[in-house]
Amino acid sequence: MPDNSVFAFARPTNEPVFSYAAGSEEKRQIKDKLVEFRSKVIEIPLLVGGKEIRTGNMGEIRIPHNHRHVIARYHKAGKKEVDMAIAAAMEAKKRWEKMQWDRRAAIFKKAAALIAGPYRADINAATMLGQGKNIYQSEIDAVCELVDFLEFNAYFLGEIYKEQPDSSRDIINQMEYRALEGFVFAVSPFNFTAIGGNLPAAPAMAGNTVVWKPASTAVYSNYLIMKILQEAGLPAGVINFIPGQGAQIGDYVLESPDLAGVHFTGSTEVFRSMWKKVGGNIDKYKTYPRLVGETGGKDFVMAHSSAEKDELVTALVRGAFEYQGQKCSAASRAYIPAGKWEEIKETLQNTVENLAMGPVEDFTNFINAVIDRASFEKITEYIKYAKASPEAEIIAGGNWDDAEGYFIRPTVIKTGNPKFQTMQEEIFGPVLTIYVYPDDGYDDALALCNETSPYALTGCVIARDKSAQQKALETLTHAAGNFYINDKPTAAVVGQQPFGGSRASGTNDKAGSIWNLIRWISPRALKETLNPPRDYRYPFMEEK
Ligand code: NAD
Repeated sequence: MPDNSVFAFARPTNEPVFSYAAGSEEKRQIKDKLVEFRSKVIEIPLLVGGKEIRTGNMGEIRIPHNHRHVIARYHKAGKKEVDMAIAAAMEAKKRWEKMQWDRRAAIFKKAAALIAGPYRADINAATMLGQGKNIYQSEIDAVCELVDFLEFNAYFLGEIYKEQPDSSRDIINQMEYRALEGFVFAVSPFNFTAIGGNLPAAPAMAGNTVVWKPASTAVYSNYLIMKILQEAGLPAGVINFIPGQGAQIGDYVLESPDLAGVHFTGSTEVFRSMWKKVGGNIDKYKTYPRLVGETGGKDFVMAHSSAEKDELVTALVRGAFEYQGQKCSAASRAYIPAGKWEEIKETLQNTVENLAMGPVEDFTNFINAVIDRASFEKITEYIKYAKASPEAEIIAGGNWDDAEGYFIRPTVIKTGNPKFQTMQEEIFGPVLTIYVYPDDGYDDALALCNETSPYALTGCVIARDKSAQQKALETLTHAAGNFYINDKPTAAVVGQQPFGGSRASGTNDKAGSIWNLIRWISPRALKETLNPPRDYRYPFMEEK
């Protein structure tokens, strides 16, 4: 029986961030959960068509700060499982896209309630141990941002569906908001559990079915999300979870004639390679696949001489080093006028040298380990390069130790060359490079900032002077999709700062917003004429 009501979810408020203060109940719970998760090794199957699949081709999840310690083993998908996942998605689609939209959304809202409530400590513990986040970084990502994605997208979807064209006495016009024709391929990165959940969930909420390949180092937390979605009532086959080797799975999925969309977050290089493959396969597809990708960044802090000293130092330290700089939005280049540099240099040096670093279980640590050996090696290569260069000087940090975990001291490099390698390339680690510009060179510094990196994700200006803020806004119009005034360039909040950038940073479809959801919908315009014409002739044809 059809439901005749016109229903709308109220605009949600953001999920509160718990403090984990000394003596709090949440602190006790997460400490217990960390002990529990450390003391076992779980086995993670693929989840295809609602069924667990074990391939025997195994990968391991190790704790980044304790890399000999395995906490999970997961099965990897091959071509056979990819075929099964696509078939399951296409089968589930028949019923899922016909389901009333608010009933679909209710499943994701139930998942949000489970994450915010009974599974809060689980999802945090898996993110902290598997992806090396401290409790605060995990809480704002794996719990709050994920809950916000699920809650806000349900609301935004209702806003889209409400949008209808004009009609008249003789004509009824209507927009029907169909799901895409085919399946969506979601490919997620390691660094945000929330993005892992959102990439498959956003298209699914709009009636699509999804093949989801999570990042290998995030499989633990991402698997918990899948289990929670199942518990919330997600029908079999709507999202199919297939961990495994990126290129092997990706290349094969992109050959499917039923590919209707790619929802990607990760590096620029991988997204570009996927785009090229889609281009090469274009004759095979039944429809033009929608390509949505949020990719790398080389995010900037532009300081003006009117910047307040402590505000600038805090923006640099938090912006560059939280989660070891492994945020697409992390501040990794800064432009500071000479006089201001003299004023902040010692404070910045002392603050960075004193940042506590160690395991996530010790809550006094601000800095933890980087994700894995490959990242450790890539980041330390950049620091070695800077150490050896006559154009660069290490101001703080510059050391590392991988005996127990992948630890790299937060590192500040100063260079006299605004085009120095570490001023332009994404490092994705705890490395900040500073270019000190002449006190009267603000305009030139803005131009340099705009021109010297291919990316355009986030950036900020730290200035009390209003005209300096305005100049930055104008010169850097296309240099960042998320622009901050007197704040660090990280920590966008769903519903407040819709997130994404352009140039080499992505398609700027703004995750967790109406703009993103629109990409997963293929509208059909309906027109019904109530009083159809009965004669082909028009009045202009008569001369008398
Ligand atoms: P990555 O590109 O290495 O991996 C992302 C995903 O792509 C993983 O699931 C990986 O297995 C998969 N993959 C790898 N090769 C593939 C291929 N050929 N075909 C299909 N899939 C393939 O990125 P990462 O190291 O997980 O994440 C870090 C990167 O993500 C950084 O560049 C960062 O800036 C970016 N990022 C961007 C945003 C944003 O919103 N713009 C957010 C988070 C991360």
